[in-house]
Amino acid sequence: MIQNTVEVHTDRDFLASIVDSSQDSVVTMDLNSIITSWNKAAQDLYGYSASDAIGKSLSLIVLPEDIRQLFKDIDRIAHNNVVERFETVRPHKDGTMMNLEIVFSPVRNSFNRIIGVSCVARNITERKRIQKALQESETRFRAIVNQASVGIFQTDLEGKLTLVNERTCDLLAYKPKELIGKSIFDFTLAQDSHLQRQIFGTIINGGKRFETEKRVLRKDGSVRWVSESVTAILDEHNTVISTIGVILDITDRKELEHRKDEFIAVASHEIKTPLTSLTGYGQILEEKLKKSESADLRNLVHKLNRQTEKLQRLTAHLLDTTRITEGALMLHREWFDLNGFIAETVEQFRESSAKHQFVFRAGNVGKTYADKMLIGEVLNNLITNVIKYSPEGGKVTLATHRTAEGDSISVTDEGIGIAETSLNHVFDRFFRVEGGNRVSGLGLGLYISAGIIRSHGGQINVKSKIGQGSVFNFSLPLVIQSVDESGTN
Ligand code: ADP
Repeated sequence: MIQNTVEVHTDRDFLASIVDSSQDSVVTMDLNSIITSWNKAAQDLYGYSASDAIGKSLSLIVLPEDIRQLFKDIDRIAHNNVVERFETVRPHKDGTMMNLEIVFSPVRNSFNRIIGVSCVARNITERKRIQKALQESETRFRAIVNQASVGIFQTDLEGKLTLVNERTCDLLAYKPKELIGKSIFDFTLAQDSHLQRQIFGTIINGGKRFETEKRVLRKDGSVRWVSESVTAILDEHNTVISTIGVILDITDRKELEHRKDEFIAVASHEIKTPLTSLTGYGQILEEKLKKSESADLRNLVHKLNRQTEKLQRLTAHLLDTTRITEGALMLHREWFDLNGFIAETVEQFRESSAKHQFVFRAGNVGKTYADKMLIGEVLNNLITNVIKYSPEGGKVTLATHRTAEGDSISVTDEGIGIAETSLNHVFDRFFRVEGGNRVSGLGLGLYISAGIIRSHGGQINVKSKIGQGSVFNFSLPLVIQSVDESGTN
């Protein structure tokens, strides 16, 4: 096609205006590396105006040490007719250094002859800075993770491991390569697997950090106890994208606990037999001394018997504790009138604790199917605590209430109350509120009570404010009355 001079000029102007409006710096040079064109973005990028740059050597915008290599590159591009892309560092007029992404392409004239090279450049200094910062933070993160004395891992939403540190590998006796891609459930012992899946499901659905103790299976088949804490990782829209977990080997602590439990079980069992005889002899003695003239002697034997009863209660608590911990608590359920049973229990306490004013609000609960003796123990523990922790006396309210789920029993006092920080722990084994207690105790009563209620499939909880009293509430699930009334479990 033949174009006249006016058309050619118009095309050139059109092209020049496009190049000028480009966001990228566009610089062209001839085959001697003399700059022939320089757009507005080039002026912004390098700091030189078009009149400063056009006619000058390309070395104007290149570091001295890079010039030789650059001339070679331009020569190669022009001769081989290729487009090449680089990332490089170039100086600004003011001396600051910039990271640039550069594309060199050959420039042809209207006869299709290569007459120079064009250089399109984009400033990627900020991108590079962010990349470097990310890389540094990644390196730092990996160093921390790998040096940690606890096992750290990351999983995807299905529970597949995407990152493991050295300690996790040591703990599970696998190599990192063998662990990546495997599911965390593959290492959880079957007995703990159900709980693990439940916990994981809660976290994936946006739940809070979860802490648990579980057993893991190592590559060699041996089992270790670990305490595990798992947290959800969220993206900018608060969607869970992965989980991070920390595991700590607690096998030694667990073994020690087990040995301690065994010792407590054996010791309390051994103490129980002579103690039962001692109680029996004490009762006979008290009976015989009823007719004695000596009030001192009668008083002494009475005190002796009360102390023996206390000792018996403590040993019974220790025995119950080991049974609950081992999951060996046997329930002997029977049908009984819950309100009648509570009324009897309250009556006994009314006689022994003159300072407290007992109120019982019997709800419409009817008959309950539970282990009467053990429920009696729960009531005893809760009411004994009211007496211990409401030293000034006050009102003690027991109430029963039936809902669709089951029977609920509450014990409300006006005592010293429990601080919020302790509320989550009062049902833990051996837990006692620090400092506030002047009364003796082992910190087992509520642990045992919770164990008894949970074995019945019920729940126990407490609401309390320091100085304002406490409300302990437990529930027993409803059982359909057709169950054999003499049945045991
Ligand atoms: P113990 O009474 O032997 O210490 P428990 O397991 O029965 O053990 O109770 C644990 C702790 O909970 C107690 O040490 C006490 O600090 C606190 N506590 C329990 N019941 C009450 C209550 N009704 N009022 C205030 N504090 C209580």
